[in-house]
Amino acid sequence: MDIGTKPTTVSSSMGSYRVSISKEGFVWPVPGCYTVSSPYGYRRSGFHDGVDIACSGVRGKPIVAAKDGVVSRVSTGGSGLGHYVEIDHGGGVKTGYGHCLAGSISVRPGQRVSAGQPIARVGSTGNSTGPHLHFNLIVNGKRINGLPYIR
Ligand SMILES: [Zn+2]
Repeated sequence: MDIGTKPTTVSSSMGSYRVSISKEGFVWPVPGCYTVSSPYGYRRSGFHDGVDIACSGVRGKPIVAAKDGVVSRVSTGGSGLGHYVEIDHGGGVKTGYGHCLAGSISVRPGQRVSAGQPIARVGSTGNSTGPHLHFNLIVNGKRINGLPYIR
């Protein structure tokens, strides 16, 4: 799928939804949910290395790949991020998706994914106080603030 640069409707196994594409060429990872419930940076509990995107407490919304790439990691628990997907976009750029709903991850390591393709659903697995996506942007192994890139 060529996502282009304009908002596009994606029809997928997880339903039909509109995806928006940022100037930096990233798709917003939770279509229709634009609330940043906790930004990247220092907070009372310590350094928060990602952007939390919530859907008014609703779980089950599709999480989509922010860019074309290859799934580099799928983890189903153990860490604070709970059920987690990581996608390698090449050029030292990866994205990570944490707290996914248990049993919802629909991709496997080595699988090629397209921008806007559903990969999991929003959940609250791992160290989480309510349903949200923890979105990581990883550049050359460093977790940076992804918000300026995805919005
Ligand atoms: Zn988070």
